[in-house]
Amino acid sequence: MAKPPGPPRRITCYHCGRSQDVSGRTTSTVCPACSKTLTVEDIVVKSYLGVRNVETCGRLIVTKKGRVVAQQRIVAHEGIELEGKLECREALVSGPVTMGGKAEWRGDLTALSLAVAEGATIRRGYFTVPENWLEELRARPPDEDETRREDDLADDELADGRGARDDVVDDDW
Ligand SMILES: [Zn+2]
Repeated sequence: MAKPPGPPRRITCYHCGRSQDVSGRTTSTVCPACSKTLTVEDIVVKSYLGVRNVETCGRLIVTKKGRVVAQQRIVAHEGIELEGKLECREALVSGPVTMGGKAEWRGDLTALSLAVAEGATIRRGYFTVPENWLEELRARPPDEDETRREDDLADDELADGRGARDDVVDDDW
């Protein structure tokens, strides 16, 4: 049985900044401007997730036992709900970010809004809540900035072995 389609959603490409409308049921699509695949659905993390990038036009939800370690960036256009732990170089969020009382955050963040509950820990990060965030996001094509070039380097590092990575990941938590 098919689920009801739900209302259409406007999503914005996290590669080039182009917006498009998709059906409410869409979980992934292709950007008409840059032809790259986009994750549209929410990403829910309930255990350990170690990756280079977390990218979705939806939300990133990290439950109490969840832990996200992104070597590079996190893009979650509709927001981040953090109850567990999160570590990244940079997070770009055009929606709200909420951190619960057991949350631990490490990394730079640009977001539409930020709510931090008492008990949450912010270990490191440069935070900005800009006036006109979506326009700023469009003005900086992420695929042409340094983040992406460092991505490529990270691939080489990973190919060489995982020892160094483990040191970084387990440090200080
Ligand atoms: Zn695009």
